[in-house]
Amino acid sequence: MEQENQEINESISQENRKPNNYNNRRPNNNNSSKPNNQNGNKPAGSNPAGSNPANSSKNKSASRGRRRQSTPVDENLKAFVEINQEAHKQRLNPHYKLDLNSKEKIRITPLGGLGEIGGNITVFETQNEAILVDVGMSFPDEDMHGVDILVPDFTYIREIKDKIKAIIITHAHEDHIGAMPYLYKEMQFPIYGSPLPLAMIGSKFDEHHIKEFKQHLHPIEKRKIYKIGEDFEIEWMHMTHSIIDSSSLAITTPAGTIIHTGDFKIDHTPVDGYTADLHRLAHYGDKGVLCLLSDSTNSYNTAPTPSELSVAPALDRVFSKAEGRVLLSTFSSNIHRVFQAIQYGVKYGRKVCVIGRSMERNIEIAMQYDYIKLPKNIFVEPEQIASMNDKDILIVTTGSQGEPSSALFRMSIGEHRHVKIKPNDLIVLSSRPIPGNEGSISGMLNHLQRAGAKIALDRELHVSGHASIEEQKLMLRLVNPKFFLPIHGEYNHVMKHKETAMMCGVPERNIYIMNDGDTVEIAPKYMRKVKTVRTGKTYIDNQNNHKIEDDIVIDRQKLASDGIVMIVAQIDGQHSTMLSKPLVTSFGLVSDKQDKFFAKEIEEVLEHFLANIKEGLIENARALENDLRQVVRKHIYRKMKKYPLIVPHIFVM
Ligand SMILES: [Zn+2]
Repeated sequence: MEQENQEINESISQENRKPNNYNNRRPNNNNSSKPNNQNGNKPAGSNPAGSNPANSSKNKSASRGRRRQSTPVDENLKAFVEINQEAHKQRLNPHYKLDLNSKEKIRITPLGGLGEIGGNITVFETQNEAILVDVGMSFPDEDMHGVDILVPDFTYIREIKDKIKAIIITHAHEDHIGAMPYLYKEMQFPIYGSPLPLAMIGSKFDEHHIKEFKQHLHPIEKRKIYKIGEDFEIEWMHMTHSIIDSSSLAITTPAGTIIHTGDFKIDHTPVDGYTADLHRLAHYGDKGVLCLLSDSTNSYNTAPTPSELSVAPALDRVFSKAEGRVLLSTFSSNIHRVFQAIQYGVKYGRKVCVIGRSMERNIEIAMQYDYIKLPKNIFVEPEQIASMNDKDILIVTTGSQGEPSSALFRMSIGEHRHVKIKPNDLIVLSSRPIPGNEGSISGMLNHLQRAGAKIALDRELHVSGHASIEEQKLMLRLVNPKFFLPIHGEYNHVMKHKETAMMCGVPERNIYIMNDGDTVEIAPKYMRKVKTVRTGKTYIDNQNNHKIEDDIVIDRQKLASDGIVMIVAQIDGQHSTMLSKPLVTSFGLVSDKQDKFFAKEIEEVLEHFLANIKEGLIENARALENDLRQVVRKHIYRKMKKYPLIVPHIFVM
């Protein structure tokens, strides 16, 4: 690498000599031989005045239109324009600091987080070692009944378990750390991250009764480089986002440096004053970056993402006008938002009651670790609310997404132990719906308004935590990578981010749109997809933190959409006839009124089935039930276009 740099330095210093040469020769030539020559940029003596017949007409036209007359070009200045153009080319060319002869390479495999929002987990792998960046969870679709969260499939991690040197955490959002307990119950690795994410992971380990794994937590200092294994050197660079203590990563490997932004926005006036560490990003950009992985969540947003501080005036307005209780809900992880809300509540003489498990836990952790400072005496317990004046109360609570198990939702349907909604309550939603949650939020708002509450959810009460197009451009320009992998987002988000990267000078061939499970190999000379590994989701029931097997979820989907039919029959094994009327029970398929008619129909199907039964089938109970299931399925599909679960029990006598 150094050798190449030297060569480049040499070529630059050769260029530097040029201006001196020009300086010594050209201007003097011009001055001595052609003091009045309008075409001073022509080589001296090449076109003596008057010797060329065309020259007289040229002079005429020059004297006619004086305004068009050009001033003599200073060859020296012109030379410097060229030199600066070359300097720009060098500066903007990300290749020139990379060692193109290097045989080293790095493989990157996202196991979640692409083609979806959430579930972020990425493997960085050299020949002998690997690290994971983030281990996040995601939320289920509506048809995954009884499933609370989704955890990435760990199959590939199991395969390369012995190579993994560490887990690297960018920030404390659930979609980046939420799956940690599920991974750690199975296998453990050292965990590196800044204090807040580690405190949050620690609290998860407590919750899951795996306290002992807290010994794997290794807090890091930002702006310091940590050597992990033989092949990785990692620096955490401070980043602004909708949760405090976030980081981007500089991952230096033998093949080159990779910048992983994590989730980010560029907030120049963050609440705690800790701005994004643009200087370190620029430092790496100047040194030469092999590849950038950058947050695509807000790829379509043309307006720059406003600062977290910009929410303050709207909050002030809300509190200055509120006459009764204020119930404010936001993402419990947005500690600066909660902090600002509390500040304005206190400003208008309110005491603060925090309700909701995650909200209580996050505020507690943020205060324990001095991320926010608030006097203890501003807080009251839920039991005290009833005896206080409405105007003295601010309730900060969970449920901004209308989650049925959240405190605000339970309040809205009158099922919360301490808080019943009453007229004059003002509900402030300082958040925006996560796509897919619009329905549940709307339902909750209906309940709240029916109970008499007023709602405040103006746009000014929330700002996003993700970079808009302009901030994505800034990141691309600071880091100036050779290769680009847009991450964090659905397919259309990463595609849009690709467009932005191309506008910022990354050639299309140097951008790859990854899917979960794609292994992309990168060397200073090339980037290519080399294989696909297994990915997927494991379903988790939050009530007991246990895995739900895939077939259970499929059964639930069938039950929900097509119902179930149970058939109990006694059969004479010798004559292949029914000994009595079969018992047919169905749910979710035909109405109660139709039950008898349907049972008769199934009975006829069964009779027909027995009359035409294959020889020997009757001795094999399992095959018999399977065949019957097929026949009944066909019949029901023909008549109702439905595929219910069919459960036959045949007793052969
Ligand atoms: Zn995040």
